[in-house]
Amino acid sequence: MAPPSGDSNVVVSSNLKLERLLSMKGGKDEASYANNSQAQAKHARSMLHLLKETLDGVNLNLPETPFVVADLGCSSGNNTIFIVNVIIEHIAKRYEASGHTCVPEFSAFFADLPSNDFNTLFQLLPPLANQGVGSMEECLASTGHRSFFAAGVPGSFYRRLFPARSVDVFYSAFSLHWLSQVPDIVMDKSSTAYNKGKIFIHGANKKAASAYRKQFQTNLADFLKMRSQEMKKGGSMFIALLGRTSEDPTDQGGAGLLFGTHFQDAWDDLVQEPDDAAEVGMALANSCRSVSGVLVDAHIGDKLGHELFLRMANRATNKAEEILEKIQFFHIVASLSLK
Ligand code: SAH
Repeated sequence: MAPPSGDSNVVVSSNLKLERLLSMKGGKDEASYANNSQAQAKHARSMLHLLKETLDGVNLNLPETPFVVADLGCSSGNNTIFIVNVIIEHIAKRYEASGHTCVPEFSAFFADLPSNDFNTLFQLLPPLANQGVGSMEECLASTGHRSFFAAGVPGSFYRRLFPARSVDVFYSAFSLHWLSQVPDIVMDKSSTAYNKGKIFIHGANKKAASAYRKQFQTNLADFLKMRSQEMKKGGSMFIALLGRTSEDPTDQGGAGLLFGTHFQDAWDDLVQEPDDAAEVGMALANSCRSVSGVLVDAHIGDKLGHELFLRMANRATNKAEEILEKIQFFHIVASLSLK
């Protein structure tokens, strides 16, 4: 986020340590991620057939060895629990279909940055079923219970998170488009890549866009390198992240609607005259706030942050119909395995 210009009330810390700070909005209130991630849940469900194809390619070890699943960028809420259940059930069925009389013990790692609200996530986890290298029925029929050991893993997925060769299945959805940092030059006023007055890549100049692209490439390469060390031979990884349909990197499609024009307009308003409030259009503002609120608050303080999202809600109210018509997200889905 480039510092807004020309307002002495604005608290700016240009070298925010993003990974110490970033999290989706925790808790369970109306602007929390847990309450504003239905779209992600829907998208994840629409990709289940692709996920299952990936899982069909995973090597099954003898059931004496625990089977390890990791969700990277799990956030806080039910989405991650739902997906981990789908993965484990599918793998258990494969064990059954391949003639095993028992399933392995399952271990699920919920990984996210340290500021993630792991507490809310842990509270949402159902109690553990009678676990062990047990019968197939125990694993498949334990409704209201979980059939996996659970643990939280704090840390950036751009670095090592797990011991070498320890994970069978990696899953990561709607997380890898988060960069490890804002590229330094887009915040450097003397650079031609300076993203002046902008809070996002939406509408940015070519040099700023290219700096973001390079940051993404470096981050993705690191991510893949780390996972290739951590994955067991025969393991697989399923990833989905925000994409776009246009070649123009500053055209962000649906994400542009969420973080682009209306967010930018509300931001510009606020920078020019902080002094108004509104009530409606809350859905868009809450969605945006659940994802970016923590960063915005750290950047301009809670009060202005609150004001910003009220402004956004107000603006969005006037465009509600158009937004509902246009809002759609494009995702890149990839399945990788280690042979
Ligand atoms: N997978 C969840 C949540 C997606 S929200 C779902 O499908 O609903 C994106 C998550 O990625 C956030 O919780 C954010 O904290 C996390 N994230 C962003 N950058 C990260 C990084 N470098 N390392 C680990 N997690 C990261």
